Amino acid sequence: MSLPEFKLLRPHATAEAIALLAQHAGNIRILAGGTDLLPSMQQKLFAPQYVLDIHRIAELKGIRQRPNGAVEIGALTALTDIEHSDFLRQHFPVLPEAAKTVASPLLRNMGTIGGNICLDTRCLWYNQSLQWRKSCGFCIKKDGDLCHVAPGGTKCWAAFSGDTPAALLCLDAEIEMASAAGIRRVKLAEFYTGLGDNYRKLAANELLTRLFLPASSAGYRGVYRKLRIRGSIDYPLAGVAVVLKRSNGHIEDVRVGLTAVNPAPVLVKGVNELLAGKRMTEEWAEAAGVLAAQTAKPLTTSALTAEYRREMIRVFTKRAVLSLATEI
Ligand SMILES: Cc1cc2nc3c(=O)[nH]c(=O)nc-3n(C[C@H](O)[C@H](O)[C@H](O)COP(=O)(O)OP(=O)(O)OC[C@H]3O[C@@H](n4cnc5c(N)ncnc54)[C@H](O)[C@@H]3O)c2cc1C
Ligand code: SF4
Repeated sequence: MSLPEFKLLRPHATAEAIALLAQHAGNIRILAGGTDLLPSMQQKLFAPQYVLDIHRIAELKGIRQRPNGAVEIGALTALTDIEHSDFLRQHFPVLPEAAKTVASPLLRNMGTIGGNICLDTRCLWYNQSLQWRKSCGFCIKKDGDLCHVAPGGTKCWAAFSGDTPAALLCLDAEIEMASAAGIRRVKLAEFYTGLGDNYRKLAANELLTRLFLPASSAGYRGVYRKLRIRGSIDYPLAGVAVVLKRSNGHIEDVRVGLTAVNPAPVLVKGVNELLAGKRMTEEWAEAAGVLAAQTAKPLTTSALTAEYRREMIRVFTKRAVLSLATEI
């Protein structure tokens, strides 16, 4: 599949990138590692007149510790660097755990954390060639007016399928966006809309520049569990991130984030209220798993059934909280 024609713009500084975004807003796409954007352009899901390759902007790369224990990560930081960061592994282990499950080593060398946060939602009926989609009469997310997954409805249910945002939600991450109008900083949880088609709150002239992990989220144990078809290289079809802090053998604080089972990554509500102050047992772990499964609303947007994906959310959550709460 060939790429549509476009003009490539290659700024060296954030200010230059923002000016180009303002100049061409609505007709430009940001390219970071390009590992998702370029295949999508080959499938003619996007055909922008301009592509803004931000890969040369050095100031958007790197992991920086703050004196107070917080950390700042540039949006262009490669997933490989996150996976192998000793600092993150020690203080925010759930994030490198999630990063190391993305795609394959080569794609993690190219793919960035910003691209993972901004990743397009996915669906069996959408991530296909133009001819394939045309033969099915298109759909709401692109060029059509019906949904093959939930016929009769007007909403798109394509699933958010990035791995790291589930972990970032558990860490209470914030993100910064820059545009010609200035800089804004929001909690990552507020960045996603919950709609499969218009899935993120990012204006056409905005660039994601940095993310921030607060010092208060450091020191939690963390795991990420993922269901995928090919273990070596695949998007998640269900993903669970868990962070947990213990004190005197009891659970002090626990957070569970889900991905790939809703149009947005989500935190499971009520799980800390359920488990805080308890000594972990099989029954409490099962109750946390059930709560997580109730939060997951997968539809048949992928090759695995919705029922199986929801069930794996329960199983992964139960195993994760059990292992984090009981391991030495
Ligand atoms: C075979 C294959 C398997 C994959 N498996 C996985 C997987 O298991 N898990 C997973 O999470 N992903 C997977 N991916 C997708 C992709 O590799 C990762 O999500 C990667 O992190 C995307 O980052 P990128 O820098 O390449 O993004 P790009 O492709 O450059 O961009 C992705 C989107 O984000 C936008 N964007 C990027 N950076 C910014 C920014 N700074 N500001 C504003 N918008 C921005 C782009 O415009 C585009 O909409 C897979 C891809 C392939 C091809
Ligand atoms: S959920 Fe429906 S509208 Fe959305 S991409 Fe899939 S088929 Fe299209």
